[in-house]
Amino acid sequence: MDVQVFGVVGGGTMGNGIAHVAAQTGFPVLLCEVDAALGAKALKTIEKNLQRGVDKGKTTADEKAAVLGRIKTTTRLEDLSGCEIVVEAVVENFDVKKKVFQTLDAACGPGTVLASNTSSISITKLAATTKRPGKVIGMHFMNPVPVMQLVEVIRGIATEQAVLDAVMALARKMGKMPVEVNDYPGFVSNRVLLPMINEAVYCLMEGVGTPEAIDTVMKLGMNHPMGPLALADLIGLDTCLFILNVLHDGLGDPKYRPCPLLIKMVDAGHLGRKSGRGFYAY
Ligand code: NAD
Repeated sequence: MDVQVFGVVGGGTMGNGIAHVAAQTGFPVLLCEVDAALGAKALKTIEKNLQRGVDKGKTTADEKAAVLGRIKTTTRLEDLSGCEIVVEAVVENFDVKKKVFQTLDAACGPGTVLASNTSSISITKLAATTKRPGKVIGMHFMNPVPVMQLVEVIRGIATEQAVLDAVMALARKMGKMPVEVNDYPGFVSNRVLLPMINEAVYCLMEGVGTPEAIDTVMKLGMNHPMGPLALADLIGLDTCLFILNVLHDGLGDPKYRPCPLLIKMVDAGHLGRKSGRGFYAY
């Protein structure tokens, strides 16, 4: 894929990271946010993250300025019409994503690839809302995007082979390791991760161990860099619950049923780091 302009929709946690890495690769980036203030906030975050690299000696002030200079923001999805690829990273809500995809589908040229960074929503279902299902694909970056190596590339039922090959090559060019997977609920990453987190919450609910005990067993015993409860707090307990519901509904197997303690914590507003309280206090 010969990328002249790399489009990103949503400049939150994931979107600003994707824009950062795309600009670092050398692509001009056009980032669409809902309003100018949120666009400016995304740029500020990218600037801060680049500065961290300068402070650590991993990049130079000139390189930082060049990367920032390649990122422009807009509030109109239609402005992304000339992009060769657009990666959508808006909230994990099918109706919001559907509207974004349909607007992009109407605005963009027939060759534009529309990718979603969704954690769990069906790529096949999103693709079916457009007139270009062959050009719709999952490009699932990991958080934090500038640091994490993996991109899970999800092939929807209609995704063209050439589009898959091009996106795999693009991810490599961006310095990432792409892994191709098929479109089933949770893909591979969250299909494997979320049942583990859910089981850790059951262990806590049943009094098998304290949060510290459960996390320490998994860190020191299994060599995980973070325990599952600390990781759940990082991801957000509402997001964990949302993904478990996708697995439960989509696969119909009771083994995916969300732990009642997880549901209770979300009901209480204890969402993890972002609310200041989850399995741990922040
Ligand atoms: P976020 O809430 O931090 O950011 C979403 C951004 O999208 C917000 O800034 C919002 O203003 C913007 N937005 C919403 N509607 C928009 C629209 N119509 N046009 C332009 N911008 C719009 O969310 P996030 O954590 O960055 O997640 C984004 C996507 O990435 C979700 O699908 C999520 O499942 C997925 N994801 C998240 C993580 C994670 O760890 N946070 C990891 C992998 C994948």
